[in-house]
Amino acid sequence: MAKQTIPYKIYLSEDEMPKVWYNLKAVMNRKHPPFLNPATLNPCSADDLRPVFCDECIEQELNDRDLYIEIPEEIRNFYKMYRPSPLVRAYCLEKALDTPAEIYYKFEGNNTSGSHKLNSAAAQAYYAKKQGLKSITTETGAGQWGTALSMAAAYFGLDLTVYMVKVSSEQKPYRKEVMRTYGAKVIPSPSDTTAAGRKILEEFPGTGGSLGCAISEAVERAVTSDSCRYVLGSVLDHVVLHQSVIGQECKIAMDKYGIQPDMIIGCCGGGSNFGGLIAPFMGGKIAGKNNIDFIGVEPASCPSLTRGKYAYDFCDSAKTTPLAKMYTLGCEFMPSANHSGGLRYHGMSPIVSELYHDKYMRAVAVEQTKVFEAAEKFARTEGILPAPESSHAIRVAMDEALRCKETGEKKTILFGLTGTGYFDMAAYKAYNDGTMTDYIPTDEDLRRGFASLPDIPQNR
Ligand SMILES: *Cc1c(COP(=O)(O)O)cnc(C)c1O
Repeated sequence: MAKQTIPYKIYLSEDEMPKVWYNLKAVMNRKHPPFLNPATLNPCSADDLRPVFCDECIEQELNDRDLYIEIPEEIRNFYKMYRPSPLVRAYCLEKALDTPAEIYYKFEGNNTSGSHKLNSAAAQAYYAKKQGLKSITTETGAGQWGTALSMAAAYFGLDLTVYMVKVSSEQKPYRKEVMRTYGAKVIPSPSDTTAAGRKILEEFPGTGGSLGCAISEAVERAVTSDSCRYVLGSVLDHVVLHQSVIGQECKIAMDKYGIQPDMIIGCCGGGSNFGGLIAPFMGGKIAGKNNIDFIGVEPASCPSLTRGKYAYDFCDSAKTTPLAKMYTLGCEFMPSANHSGGLRYHGMSPIVSELYHDKYMRAVAVEQTKVFEAAEKFARTEGILPAPESSHAIRVAMDEALRCKETGEKKTILFGLTGTGYFDMAAYKAYNDGTMTDYIPTDEDLRRGFASLPDIPQNR
């Protein structure tokens, strides 16, 4: 068969969209250790989680048997508003880099929320509605997750309350207005609407808030009202599952043109887009069908995979959630204030953590000035203004393509372009003004974070 010319954009039709999510856990030789109830240190049962999360999400969270999980038609219909997302052949970037490598990226920024987070927001809002709940609640830091959930809640007819870290709500007032336009109630956190918020306000009256505090407020709201549940935008297994729609679409599109990636690269905050992008390809690697080089990219200022510990830790800095076994810097670790490139989470998806621990993938940490340099190059060649988070993957894809130029290897590189950067112009401004700096935590900084790990037998 003659080799087909590959178009700039490979689109799938609606009929070709995946009808199932890919549950990577079902094929993993070693499953990650279970969540623990912090009070008893016993594995969390579905009943332990029920006051906080929707029933169907708990079911999916604990499911390590079924490889394929059907995407309900209602969710697929929502996906059709902005999916299938294009798989782009980066011809212009290849040319600019003068590389023999072939570069592809999967672009998830083509919706109002500007990121892949809508894929899980839609699923979680649908399951909440189906369970007969009236409302859902969450926290948001930078605002992408809150925006995605506002869109999904509006579509499925749910009330949504978003606890937005106070400094973010002041620094990104337009993010807040997007959420309000979709009908969400946005409360700067800490607030006087919860006991957790009131306690923080009493202790630290002028505080700008933190993600940990916003999580505590949202969880408290969920458990103290019976028609409300809490939803989370990353880290958890069911979120990674929903994001597998990204990898499934890539696989279908690449198979259509006989393209085999040698390398798959994604940025890692909580690990959901990376876990979803690699899912079906990693399943192939585990089964011995490919030898793809999987690379997770994280900021050097928040290096949970490359410098963290594989330990049980809380998912929030207020220490209210179940304990997850994951690569972590300690729940009280805070990246330095001059870090503006996103991906600030202290831990990592337990699925991604286990894959990394078992050496099915590797991880690379990059400095933010280098990330923005790649972002600028990408914007000028491929036209898309990338989110700082996504630009971590661009950086490493470019580095690998430049390595191919030296060695003459013609590798096929796929990376995840998770979103657009229109709300991150303050960070771009710092880069353009030349005031952006890098801060790499010292061993002493990390030691302080590790000191916040729970002192339990499982961690000794
Ligand atoms: C939230 C976000 C990320 C990081 O989250 P993951 O769960 O690691 O995928 C990456 N890119 C964008 C654009 C985001 O909004």
